[in-house]
Amino acid sequence: MSASVCVLGSSSRGNATAITFDNSGRFILVDAGLTPRRVRAALVEAGASAHFHTLRAIFLTHLDRDHWSLSWAKQLQRAPVPVILRRAHAAQAIEMGVPPACLRPIDGPFRLGETAEVRPIAVPHDTIGSTAFRFDCDHAHIGHATDLGHVTDELLEAFAGLDMLSIESNYDEALQRRSPRPAFLKDRIMGGRGHLSNEQSVEAARLLTAGGTIRHLVLLHLSQECNRPEIVRDLFCERLPAMAASLVITRPMQPTALLQVRRREAAVA
Ligand SMILES: [Zn+2]
Repeated sequence: MSASVCVLGSSSRGNATAITFDNSGRFILVDAGLTPRRVRAALVEAGASAHFHTLRAIFLTHLDRDHWSLSWAKQLQRAPVPVILRRAHAAQAIEMGVPPACLRPIDGPFRLGETAEVRPIAVPHDTIGSTAFRFDCDHAHIGHATDLGHVTDELLEAFAGLDMLSIESNYDEALQRRSPRPAFLKDRIMGGRGHLSNEQSVEAARLLTAGGTIRHLVLLHLSQECNRPEIVRDLFCERLPAMAASLVITRPMQPTALLQVRRREAAVA
């Protein structure tokens, strides 16, 4: 058995990643920044709808509109599933239309049914932060971190020994500085509580891939204005040549292939 992951889309136009920890077809979403209709369409486009047919829970990193599409509020009233987020985000979630009956605020690690252990890690982003998640099941260790202004020691510690790392590589610093964006926005993005630059991302990936267990390195949330997939690919291939074959660069409204995640030891045995 293996866990399976499909990034359905990742950019400021909408973020959502589908993960299943077994072969049951039951899956979680990390972020719901694409509409329910777009999530279904992306799963079909990826040829993954058989692996992901029943939504069991939504994990929210934070409540920005590219991570929580308001169209989910209606959908959840019709077909409720738990919406799991850090307690610091609960009040904002209610304001943003998450049905209170669905809300599951968490304070620390917990077990998701029979299948996975979940560890939330608070990361710096705007005022109340974002949340990175580590998922551990029998056959895979998966880390997901997006919308963070810098990589904290706590995150590096929590993400040790992963099989799959998904991390944002938001902007190229030179393109950001040259962009016509207003100074306050550039400051927000680059000031330590915004997003990770390509340089910050590749450095985090260097530290986290050093153990040799990661077989999928997925780069999330590339800025359409201040980044290019070719720049990201060249940088990561140059700095982390051993990871070149494992690199997946996500596109705005385009799903990745279905990524099977299995522990390296298990594959060898
Ligand atoms: Zn975002």
